[in-house]
Amino acid sequence: MSPATPLPPIAQVATTYAIALGSNRRGRHGAPEREIVAALNAVGRVVAQSPIIASAPLGPSNRRYANAVALIESAEDPSALLVRLKRIEREAGRRAGRRWGSRVLDLDIVLWSGGAWSSPGLTVPHAAFRTRGFVLGPLASLVPTWRDPLTGRTIRQLAHVVDRKRPRD
Ligand code: ATP
Ligand code: CA
Ligand code: CA
Repeated sequence: MSPATPLPPIAQVATTYAIALGSNRRGRHGAPEREIVAALNAVGRVVAQSPIIASAPLGPSNRRYANAVALIESAEDPSALLVRLKRIEREAGRRAGRRWGSRVLDLDIVLWSGGAWSSPGLTVPHAAFRTRGFVLGPLASLVPTWRDPLTGRTIRQLAHVVDRKRPRD
């Protein structure tokens, strides 16, 4: 390759995704926190990541979760990214099971810089992220001013709503 050969136009097509990572079961890499670290190394070009937090279980499982949010850059469309994320989940040792049951690794697409996306089996923004503190807290530390394309609210605003312990009277 001569020095004048242009680089592939990655920068022209790359978009940014916010990915939520969760684990509440030991897998191929070890304890839940280790699974999150391994997944962060596997998801591609990570441009920012939150601390890994511990959060209470959701649904029928009684195991505590390790959760984090990462921003990644990718030229993939959301469907292609989801296929890749599901492969990473399987490689970590996740098996099909009950929704919200204990799992080695859960990788959800929360937001996309391309806006809203809907295709069979995939909705972006993630349908439930607006009510989940374990997603909104870490997300607000990374991109407080991003706007949810559906409600028009910023991530900081959505996080405040979830944070409020009691409804206003
Ligand atoms: P929840 O979606 O409430 O967080 P979950 O992550 O436990 O639950 P899974 O069993 O991991 O649910 O996924 C169920 C299906 O949700 C996936 O097979 C996928 O096709 C679909 N899905 C829809 N939107 C998204 C998204 N934004 N990110 C990841 N998966 C999604
Ligand atoms: Ca999930
Ligand atoms: Ca999931």
